[in-house]
Amino acid sequence: MKVAVAIDGPVGAGKSTIARQCAKELGFIYVDTGALYRCIGLYCLNKGISTTDNENVTKALSEIKLDISVIDSTQHVFLNGVDVSAEIRQNEVSMAASNVSAIPKVREFLLDLQRGLAKSNNVIMDGRDIGTVILPDARVKIYLTAKPEIRAKRRYDELIAKGQQMEYQSVLDDLNQRDYNDMHRETAPLKAADDAVVIDTSELNFNEACEVIIKTIKDRAGI
Ligand code: C5P
Repeated sequence: MKVAVAIDGPVGAGKSTIARQCAKELGFIYVDTGALYRCIGLYCLNKGISTTDNENVTKALSEIKLDISVIDSTQHVFLNGVDVSAEIRQNEVSMAASNVSAIPKVREFLLDLQRGLAKSNNVIMDGRDIGTVILPDARVKIYLTAKPEIRAKRRYDELIAKGQQMEYQSVLDDLNQRDYNDMHRETAPLKAADDAVVIDTSELNFNEACEVIIKTIKDRAGI
């Protein structure tokens, strides 16, 4: 029986960087499910399909094939055979992903891919609905959060380090908007699973957060 760790939480709570490090230490595969929604968002942007147009986004799904593979311990996503791992990190793709993620058929489309990965590997999977919908039987569920201003500052520093020109205020506004969308959509809204351990990283640095999470995983999974 494989061990699954679900990590959910709002934008910029540190899910991906922390989960990646914890997976490395535990020898688990790290799966970033946001990348899948980003691929669909990117496809629609490239094709000129409005990402809020439920009907046309749903139609486009039949033209999309997604694959995930781990290369040198890093997750790569392939959109119709093309590695788009870097492209999906562009800022405009974030809101596109948030928009398409509210469409029920999009969530249904990605369900089997995510569940399949957890069936054949010990995984730490991060997203918004992993503990509530995708892996409701996950051995460990963590809801990672932090104050919005702190999350926005971390996000801002990350984007600037990647050379993207952004104002702090627009990063904060964008983050609040995406969180609002994720928490208020009808299908699989972002929330902590009833049996999740809630961890607030506002006062924790990266190493401290990893330590708390590894301890939580080991305690809960009995490993
Ligand atoms: O995690 P990341 O910010 O890359 O995710 C991009 C968007 O994809 C989120 O804002 C959210 O709307 C959506 N998402 C989701 N469910 C997941 C992962 C991401 O709805 N499991």
